[in-house]
Amino acid sequence: MLSPNQLLKKYFGYETFRPQQEEIIEKILSAADALVLMPTGGGKSLCFQIPALLLPGTAIVVSPLISLMKDQVDALRGNGISSAFYNSSQSFEEQQAILNACHHGEIKLLYISPEKLLSDTEIITKTCKISLFAIDEAHCVSAWGHDFRPEYTQMGFLRERYPNIPFIALTATADKLTRRDIIKQLKLKKPQVFITSFDRKNLSLEVKIGVKPKEKINEIIAFIQQRKNQSGIIYCLSRKKCEEAYEALQNNGINAMFYHAGMDAAARSSVQERFINDDLQVVCATIAFGMGIDKSNVRWVIHYNLPKNIEGYYQEIGRAGRDGLPSETILYYNYADLQLLNKFAGEGNMAEVNLEKLKRMQQYAEADSCRRKILLNYFSESPDQNCGNCDVCRDPRQHFDGTVTVQKALSAAARTGEKEGLSMLVDILRGSKRQEIISAGYDKIKTHGAGAEIPAFDWQRYLMQMLNLGILEMAYDENFALKITPSGKDILFGKKKIELTVLNSIKPIEKAQRNRQPKIVSDYEALFNHLRKVRRIFAEDENVPAYVIFSDATLDEMVREKPSTAEELLSISGVGEHKLFKYGDAFLNVIQGFSSSHDTKSTYQETLKMLRQNISIEEIAAIRNLAETTVYSHIAQLYLSGQVDSLSKYVNEDEINSVKEAVKIVGDTKIMKPIFEHLKETVPYHKIRMALAVLEKRG
Ligand code: ADP
Ligand code: ZN
Repeated sequence: MLSPNQLLKKYFGYETFRPQQEEIIEKILSAADALVLMPTGGGKSLCFQIPALLLPGTAIVVSPLISLMKDQVDALRGNGISSAFYNSSQSFEEQQAILNACHHGEIKLLYISPEKLLSDTEIITKTCKISLFAIDEAHCVSAWGHDFRPEYTQMGFLRERYPNIPFIALTATADKLTRRDIIKQLKLKKPQVFITSFDRKNLSLEVKIGVKPKEKINEIIAFIQQRKNQSGIIYCLSRKKCEEAYEALQNNGINAMFYHAGMDAAARSSVQERFINDDLQVVCATIAFGMGIDKSNVRWVIHYNLPKNIEGYYQEIGRAGRDGLPSETILYYNYADLQLLNKFAGEGNMAEVNLEKLKRMQQYAEADSCRRKILLNYFSESPDQNCGNCDVCRDPRQHFDGTVTVQKALSAAARTGEKEGLSMLVDILRGSKRQEIISAGYDKIKTHGAGAEIPAFDWQRYLMQMLNLGILEMAYDENFALKITPSGKDILFGKKKIELTVLNSIKPIEKAQRNRQPKIVSDYEALFNHLRKVRRIFAEDENVPAYVIFSDATLDEMVREKPSTAEELLSISGVGEHKLFKYGDAFLNVIQGFSSSHDTKSTYQETLKMLRQNISIEEIAAIRNLAETTVYSHIAQLYLSGQVDSLSKYVNEDEINSVKEAVKIVGDTKIMKPIFEHLKETVPYHKIRMALAVLEKRG
């Protein structure tokens, strides 16, 4: 039997486990329960997929989202692992066929929704030999979580009914309350809790405070225009905002669409699908978007508005860069959003929890220390170094003695009876003479105009700092009036000094670059795009998302490593045996063709020189440390460029004719595998290559 490590390479093409994956797998294999907390993109799936391969029978994977199931099953099949999903969208016959296959031990993993598992428990447990239960998105069981699904709470009975089958619950939501709830509700048996670091180093973090709406959208457009081939998501607070943002992008020639709960299911899934298939560059979405997608090459995520809580924010930015490549995240934050969110949060029956969560979100957005540290602290981690990849680390904040500024603001609050909100206070400080101020008599108070030298916008930001510092407090239930806290009183009465953060000027994103010259496509991009095209052909052919063929990270490594043999290709992360067999030749061909037409002109001459000295191909390959196939491809190129007169030494007329006939049938693909297969593997690859060169020259 293969070890977990061997399976990792064979099926998934990865060299090493990520932190904790191996321990989790071992735990499951010892038939114990586990609760796995890992960030989005952290690699949770492998933790139950590998045990499923090793244990006899079928693993039942419970997942709340039907769209995600199909993609996961596609991805597994793409790696040569037999799996299926089972849900009510299928006909009775289909369902029967799947259960039948499980019964015969032909399905290693069965994906199922909680509703379906509950309604069909009897038949499923009768027909399948269950190897393990994996409960994905397990936080859905908790009413504390942000994504509560009542059906999840009913699954606890399974644990009692199947005491000897291991249970693994997985989630990207880590707060303690949810964690405890999951264990309790699912009745996990002495589970070992695995918490991997929530740090996603490849995501850059940036918060932009108080950008005005018009500038905001222009900035975003400029940002996207500089990232031509990169997919991204813009999260908006409301449906209306989604559509507005979409329209602005559309008007600027950006291939975008919107996505929100007001659309019908078909329209929504079409957007998802087009996005996954790289048909759509940008989606403007409410938070409803994303849970059901598993697209590894999302390069950036923008929050158009402040999110409700850190869990949601972290999960949303986590949708960027699942492939591990550098990805950008930007959060826009302004006072109006905060006010609106406060209103929402204060309404429900969980008002207290929600308001507290929003406060933490606000503190994050307002922070003037390393943002990643704050995020990780939230998830109970304490990194000891600043990250270097957030806006604060890149542009450290400075402080000044803000006592006088603060006193002015607090005095304005005090003299208006602590019943006014932020914008009124700003107007008083600035000395506005608008009607409301006159009629309330606020133009008579001592603080009126006391802060006229500070722009209104800066006052807003100072007041927000004061909220964050606990000097002021917002009374949600009194029209957002700002109240002075005890600590604020100490400052007001001169008992305490206070530091404020110097407001950094807000730099529009890369404005300076807006008029830059059209970029010359680098060799890297040229080959990458070429490989993307090949990937696309296979994806369309198999009707799966492109990343199911290979992720961007895998293509990236191919471009950098330029493998020239099957062995070298297999050593690329993400290339397993199944994929090597299916796609290896096509990708190798493109890479070799590229290498030969680009940076290796002189390498041909080297080969040519050796050929002229009558050195055999085996020897040339050995001496030059190249694959024989590479040497053959040099010869084919030398022939095409007229430096080698004839290939008759390597391929005869019969073989050329066979290849010619095969091409007629399988098409002129430049991919040799179909030809090889069509000829029932009777003509070796190097001869096919030679024959193709001859045919090309003959036209
Ligand atoms: P999650 O479910 O935690 O959000 P996934 O299981 O979808 O994350 O994994 C995210 C990505 O990381 C996938 O593309 C997956 O193939 C990849 N991945 C998982 N484990 C490894 C590993 N050990 N080495 C390299 N890539 C991995
Ligand atoms: Zn930082």
